[in-house]
Amino acid sequence: MQADILAWSVPVLFCSFALLFLLLSRLHRSLLWWSVAFLIASVGFAMTVLPTTPGSVLKPTVEDTMFLVALSITNGAFAARAGRRPRWTWPTVLVVAGSAGAAGSLAFLGGSVLYEVMSVQSACAGLMLLSAYEMRHDTAALKPLLFGLCLTIAGSLGFQNLLLLSAPPGDLTVSAWRDTTWGFVFQLNGAAMGLLLATSVILTTTLDIIARLREESTADALTGVLNRRGLEQGVEAMRKGARMPTRFALILSDLDHFKSINDRFGHEAGDAVLCGYAALCAEIVGRDGLVARIGGEEFAIVLAGSDRRAAIRVAEVLRSTASRVRWPGRLAEVRITASFGVVDLDGDETLFGAIDRADRLLYRAKADGRDKVMVEAWEPPMQPPTPLRHRAGAAAG
Ligand code: GH3
Ligand code: MG
Ligand code: MG
Repeated sequence: MQADILAWSVPVLFCSFALLFLLLSRLHRSLLWWSVAFLIASVGFAMTVLPTTPGSVLKPTVEDTMFLVALSITNGAFAARAGRRPRWTWPTVLVVAGSAGAAGSLAFLGGSVLYEVMSVQSACAGLMLLSAYEMRHDTAALKPLLFGLCLTIAGSLGFQNLLLLSAPPGDLTVSAWRDTTWGFVFQLNGAAMGLLLATSVILTTTLDIIARLREESTADALTGVLNRRGLEQGVEAMRKGARMPTRFALILSDLDHFKSINDRFGHEAGDAVLCGYAALCAEIVGRDGLVARIGGEEFAIVLAGSDRRAAIRVAEVLRSTASRVRWPGRLAEVRITASFGVVDLDGDETLFGAIDRADRLLYRAKADGRDKVMVEAWEPPMQPPTPLRHRAGAAAG
């Protein structure tokens, strides 16, 4: 009775993981694959608990095929994790070869479980190696954990095959196999590896989701460049990361007469212009700075290690390139321009203080006819205030 409860706990646990993966699959698509894989494996484990009639070929072959199909689906899950389309040729070859080998051993080798188990274990090991190979494009933080686990599972299955060859169990019929030490240990190992895999998948996917949410909270949903918060964090990180005090410059730009683009061509066309302009900013700025959309059609660029003279050059390139862009479709008939304000971003000044100053320049660029870069008049650095005592002394003298 107790042994039965223990035996049934494995399929129940696998089925619970399948449900959990299904519930979480809205957060990460690859979990749907894991859900199906664990569901099929749970049916496989459930079937092994049910009694097998001596000499039966069909039931053990179906069980074996279930495990092989489940593992081939995890292959798809690893491909989906890495954002690739699953490829089925090799997994299918391994499933068919493993199942055919198992059925053949049972049917033609006197119901021998030895070659059946070895055939299935070899195919399972092959599928795990394929999964490890699928992970080569994965960028997850815990990739080494999953990768190592795939190799460990493949290795343990190969090791079990060697054990079987070196010390074959006495009674080799299917009905008695589960009660042999090897049968028990192998089943236990399969269940333990499956549970370890499920836990690792949950851990890795949770970290993936946290990283994605963090990225989404600092990115502009429409254009993909940074949003206000992302810019603030980026500037803070640049200031902290700089080994020595470094100069920053801020370019604020605003598309000219953008409302008329929306009015004439529709909101969707307006969105396309915003995306195109953001991409242009990112391309021109490259790795030297940060690009953010901080308002409807207002973009900020922060350049590290640049004074405003260098920033004016960047703004000029951006201004002239933007005005020469040939937009697709009906937008081709319009010339879209932008106005710019450029300021130095001093070491102790807040980002938003500098944005306010740049905004005033932008206002002047608009008033001056638009499609212009405005910069503050150069002012000599402020002299330190003369001490009162000194001035008093001078007056007395
Ligand atoms: P100016 O040259 O003075 O800057 O004129 P403007 O028309 O560009 O400025 P205004 O502030 O009058 O209009 C900005 C428009 O930007 C109004 C708003 O509908 C549009 N807008 C803001 N956010 C979005 C967006 O996400 N998508 C689209 N398509 N339009 C947006
Ligand atoms: Mg505008
Ligand atoms: Mg505006």
